[in-house]
Amino acid sequence: MSQIVVAIDGPAGSGKSSVAKELAREFGFAYLDTGAAYRALAWAVLNGLDDSVLDSPNLAADFKYDISTDPDDFWVRVGEIDVTDAIRTNLISEAVSRVAGNQHVRKFMKELTHQLAEDCNAPGIIIEGRDITTVVYPGADSRLLLTADEQVRIARRAKQLNEGEGHDLSRSVTKRDEADSKVVDFLTAAEGVTLIDSTNLDFDATVEAMELQIRKDLEER
Ligand code: C5P
Repeated sequence: MSQIVVAIDGPAGSGKSSVAKELAREFGFAYLDTGAAYRALAWAVLNGLDDSVLDSPNLAADFKYDISTDPDDFWVRVGEIDVTDAIRTNLISEAVSRVAGNQHVRKFMKELTHQLAEDCNAPGIIIEGRDITTVVYPGADSRLLLTADEQVRIARRAKQLNEGEGHDLSRSVTKRDEADSKVVDFLTAAEGVTLIDSTNLDFDATVEAMELQIRKDLEER
C-alpha cells in the first residue's frame, strides 16, 4: 500500500512542529519538518555557500542536506555539520524568508521533500510547513491548516524561546509571516483543507482535535 501522507501547514508560532511530532508518535508515522531545509539553506548561505547557487541547477549538488524523520531523535545536517541548533537562531529566522522567496529554491524544496518522504520508508508521514497542503502534497490523505491568533502565537514562541514577550520577538514573528505570506498563502485554508484554530486550545486539546480529523480523513481513504 502506498505511504500515508498527512500535510500540516500554518504560520510561525502556531505550534505546528510540536503538534506534528506528537501526532507522528501517536500514529507511529515519520515526521518531516520542511522549514528546517529552508533554515539550513539560509544557514549555508550565511556560512559561505555562494548566493548564486540558489538559482543554479547545481543546488542539489552544492547543498548537501539531511534530516531525521524520527520524532524522538531529531537532527539536521548540512554536509558533515550538525546544524540542529544553529538553524534556530534569530539571525536565521530573519534571513530565511529571502531564501524561501526564491522560486527555484521552492521547486528544489518540493522535490527534496518528496525524496525525503520516499526514503524514510515509513507506513505514513506527517509533513509540516507552509505550502504542503497546497503545493507539495495537494493530494495528501489528510490536509490540515493549524492557526492561532497572532498574540497567542507570539506568546507561545516567546515561551518556546525563553525570551519573554519582547517587542523584538513580536516584530520578528509578524515580519516573517508578512514576508512568507507574499510567497504562499498559509493563512486561509484551501479547498479540502481543514482549519484547526488553536487560539483557545491547549497542546493536548490541539493534538486531539487534529488526531480526530486525521482519523476521519484516513477512514475515507
Ligand atoms: O517552519 P519554520 O518557521 O521553521 O520555517 C522557516 C521558514 O521557512 C519560514 O519562515 C518560511 O520562510 C520557510 N518555509 C516555507 N515553506 C515551507 C516551510 C517553511 O517557505 N513549507
